[in-house]
Amino acid sequence: MIDLVVRNASQILTCAETGVPAPLAGRSQGSIGLTSGGVAIDDGRILEVGPGAADIPARETLDAQGGVVLPGFVDPHTHLVFVGNRAQEFEERMKGVSYEEIAKRGGGIRASMAMLREATDEQLQSAVKRNLDRALALGTTTLEAKSGYGLSLEHERRSLRALAVDHPVEVVRTCLAAHAIPPEFEKNRQGYVDLVCDEILPAVAEEGLAQYCDVFCENGAFGFEESERILLRGKELGLRGRVHAEQLARSGGSRVACRAGAITADHLEHATYEDALAMKKAGVIAVLLPAANYVLDQERRAPARTMIGIGLPVALASDFNPGTAPTQSMPLVMNLACVRFKMTIAESIVAATINAACAAGVADRLGSLEAGKQADLVLCGVSDYRDLVYRFGGNPVRAVVKRGRVVKR
Ligand SMILES: [Zn+2]
Repeated sequence: MIDLVVRNASQILTCAETGVPAPLAGRSQGSIGLTSGGVAIDDGRILEVGPGAADIPARETLDAQGGVVLPGFVDPHTHLVFVGNRAQEFEERMKGVSYEEIAKRGGGIRASMAMLREATDEQLQSAVKRNLDRALALGTTTLEAKSGYGLSLEHERRSLRALAVDHPVEVVRTCLAAHAIPPEFEKNRQGYVDLVCDEILPAVAEEGLAQYCDVFCENGAFGFEESERILLRGKELGLRGRVHAEQLARSGGSRVACRAGAITADHLEHATYEDALAMKKAGVIAVLLPAANYVLDQERRAPARTMIGIGLPVALASDFNPGTAPTQSMPLVMNLACVRFKMTIAESIVAATINAACAAGVADRLGSLEAGKQADLVLCGVSDYRDLVYRFGGNPVRAVVKRGRVVKR
C-alpha cells in the first residue's frame, strides 16, 4: 500500500520530456507532456504517472474531480521579503508620474528600504509567512526570494534570515544587496560596491544565507562594470549570479550574465537577437516578468518569440514586489506572457514549471511529474489546461500536494 494516489484527472501535464533536469527550449518549449489518469505517490516521491497509476492501492486518495493536474508552480524571481506597501506610488503613477521620478523623490526601492529597516525581525518573518501562504494558495510550491530592501550588512542579513521560515513552500534564497545605492552612499557609489563585495557577500556566503547573488544592472542602479565586479565576487564565494537585465534600457545586463556564468538573466525587454544568441551559447536561462511589464505599461515587450525561435529556454516569474508587481499569481503571469509576449499557452506552462525549476536551480528534484521526482503538484478546477491560462483574475488551484502531503484542499 502506497501513501497517496491522485485519481480522476481529465488531463495530467507532466512537463517532462528529456528525463534529465534540463530546460525545454525551441519546439520543446511547448512540450507539456499531456496524459490522463492519476499520480501515484509514496514517501514524498512520484512513483508513477498516467492511466495505470490511478489503480494502485493507497492509504489516501485525492479526487481530482475531472480537473487538470500539473507540477506545482515554481516562481524563480520574487522580492518576497518586504513590509508595508506602495499603493500610494501606484496611484501617483496612474496620475502620470514616472517610476524614475518617484524613485528620485525617495520612493521606489528606497521607500521599501526605509520601511524594512524600521521593522522588527518578527514583523519581517510574519510578512514572509503571509506571502508564502498566499503563494501556496495560488499553487506555487517553490520560489526564489531575494533580499534587496536592506541595503546594509545588518539588514540584508536580517532579510535573508527571515526567509528561512518553516513553511511548506520551499524558498531558494538570493542576496540582492546590489538592488540600489542606499542614501548613506548617495555620494559614494564606489564605497557601496566595495561594501557589497568585501563585506555583505562574504558574510552571506560564510553564514550560508543564500545560494545566489543578484544585481540590478540598469541606468540609475548598477553599471556594467559594477555589475560584473559584484557577480564575479559572488561567483568566487560560491554564490552563482542572477541578473536584472535590459529592463528599462539595453544596459548590458545579459552580457554581464554570460560573462559571469550566471544561471539566469531576467526581465530582458530590451534584449536583442544577439543578446539572446549569446545567452543561449552561455547557457543562461531567460526569465521573463510580464507582470512588471504590465504594471509599468511598457510599450517594449520581451522578445519571447525570438528567444524561443533560436532555442533559448524561457522561464516565467512573478517578480512579486511592492512596487512594480504586487501579484504572486503564476496563472496570471502565464496569461500576461501569452497576451503581452505572444507565448503560447503550452509554452507558458512549461515556462512556469520545468523551466522555472531550472531557473531556480532545483530541476533535479522539481518542476515536472516524473517517477523519482519530489511529489509537488497542483489540482486545478478546470477540465482543459487551456482554461488555466485563458481565464484570468481568479484562482484555478483547488488542491496542492507538497512533498507527497496534501497541504491545501
Ligand atoms: Zn526583480
